[in-house]
Amino acid sequence: MSLPVIESLGLTKTYRMGSQQVQALAGVDVHIQQGEFIAVMGPSGSGKSTFMNMLGCLDSPSSGEIRIQGENVTHLSAAELARIRNRYIGFVFQQFNLLPRTTALDNVLLPLLYRKDHDGNQDFATECLRRVGLEQRMDHHPSQLSGGQQQRVAIARALVNQPAVVLADEPTGALDTETGLEIMQLFQQLNQEGKTIVLVTHEPEVAAFASRQLIFRDGRLQSDKQVKAESASEHLARYREQKQQEGL
Ligand code: ADP
Ligand code: MG
Repeated sequence: MSLPVIESLGLTKTYRMGSQQVQALAGVDVHIQQGEFIAVMGPSGSGKSTFMNMLGCLDSPSSGEIRIQGENVTHLSAAELARIRNRYIGFVFQQFNLLPRTTALDNVLLPLLYRKDHDGNQDFATECLRRVGLEQRMDHHPSQLSGGQQQRVAIARALVNQPAVVLADEPTGALDTETGLEIMQLFQQLNQEGKTIVLVTHEPEVAAFASRQLIFRDGRLQSDKQVKAESASEHLARYREQKQQEGL
C-alpha cells in the first residue's frame, strides 16, 4: 500500500473549560489512502468535528499525531500549519462560511492570495466554479445564491488549491433532501475523478454514498469498515421521480 494521505495516530483531545475537562477524542487511529471516500458518523458530541479539525490542521491534539503524506505535523508552528493546510487541505462547512460582501469568484480566489505562484490563478478559480456547475454565477454575491449554490461555491473554494484531501463537516446539514443529494452527487463525481474526500454526516442515507464508514462514539472509533457505495445519481433520479409522482 502507498503512503497514506493523512493519518491520525493515538489522537487525543481534551478541552479545558474552567476547572472542567472534556475528553473529546481518546486515542483515534485512522489511515486515509489517496482516492478514498470516507463518511464519518456518530452521535452528536462523539468527537466528529474535533477529529476533522485535527485532520485539517485547524487545531492541535493534546497527544498523538497527525501525519500528512508521512510528515508528522503535530508540533509545527501556527504559520507552518497554515502553510500545510493551504497546500494539502480543502475544507467545506455546514454553513458554507463564504464572505458575504464579495462575489463567488472572489470567494474561490481567496485561498490563492496566500500563495506566491499567482499566475493563472483566476483561470483555475473559474475552472473550479465551472466544475461545480456555477460558471453562470461567478459575479453573484452569496445572498444572491441558493443554499445549494453557496455550498457549490464553498466546494470550488476547497478545490482551488488542488488539495490532497477535501474535508467536509456536515456539508448537507443545512440543505433540503434534494439539494443535499445533488451535493453528494458532486462529491461522488469528484471522488471518481480521484479526489480524496472525508465527510461528516449523521444521516445513514448520506453516508451510504461513501465507500468507507467510520463511526465515533464517546471520542473513540467504534467501527471502521469498507462498504459498497450507493450511487448518488441513481438515488437522486429515484427521489425526483417519486417527488413527481406524489405531485400528480
Ligand atoms: P460532534 O462533532 O461529533 O458533535 P464535537 O467534536 O463537536 O462532536 O465535540 C466532542 C466533545 O467535545 C463534546 O462533548 C463537545 O461539547 C466538546 N467540545 C467540542 N469543542 C469544544 C470546545 N471548543 N471547547 C470545549 N469543549 C468542546
Ligand atoms: Mg460536529
